[in-house]
Amino acid sequence: MSRPFKPSAIPLRCTLCPKEPIFSDISHLLTHISSKGHLSHKFKLQIRGQTDPHARIELERYEIWYADNNLDELLAERLASKESKSTIKRMRTTSKAVCISHIFLHVGTKIANVSRVGSKTKAKGEDLNARGTNQA
Ligand SMILES: [Zn+2]
Repeated sequence: MSRPFKPSAIPLRCTLCPKEPIFSDISHLLTHISSKGHLSHKFKLQIRGQTDPHARIELERYEIWYADNNLDELLAERLASKESKSTIKRMRTTSKAVCISHIFLHVGTKIANVSRVGSKTKAKGEDLNARGTNQA
């Protein structure tokens, strides 16, 4: 968990897309990088790069930035955390449902016991007292 990596050190700007969008945080940047629009720009640039040296330079610049900032690793981490979050969420909802049914079951039996005991306490009250003194 303790890595020397600082998210703020990444230039939060996509130099690949024609608008060169700037992002307020790394999460937005990662969302952009995995977006259809960005990927199609990247693809077009790759195709253009076969004949156009400018496109190739632009793509190279992007790829250096991408590698320098470990963006593939960040994307992988984000994907993994997203997946684990959804698993936890799923687990939490199931355990909650189980808990609630347990509580209902518990309360239900308690109520049944109380009502049963309530009707019998009068009759058994003396018996219980007698037994209690005998044991002590
Ligand atoms: Zn982009």
